[in-house]
Amino acid sequence: MGTASAHPSSPRLTGWFVTARHRQTGPHGEPRPWGAVHVKRIGEPMTACGVVTLGWQVFWRVPAASVLAELCVDCREGALADAQEGLSRCDAC
Ligand SMILES: [Zn+2]
Repeated sequence: MGTASAHPSSPRLTGWFVTARHRQTGPHGEPRPWGAVHVKRIGEPMTACGVVTLGWQVFWRVPAASVLAELCVDCREGALADAQEGLSRCDAC
């Protein structure tokens, strides 16, 4: 019955960077991902969904949370699961 779930409107996807095989120019002349949009961690050779990103563009100025709706499903779930785990756990303590 009760479907009132706490759905965060803007999850913090700290540490995840937007990446894509191709890029396009946005309305303000900024590079934007084109095609399938994924996220990856810095230093990792693969996206959250396991695709090798050799030679891919990384969109440093595009926050991962801002393209959540465009992310590939596996990347979105991977990054969101990671973000939620980060909220309940603190690996500094
Ligand atoms: Zn992906």
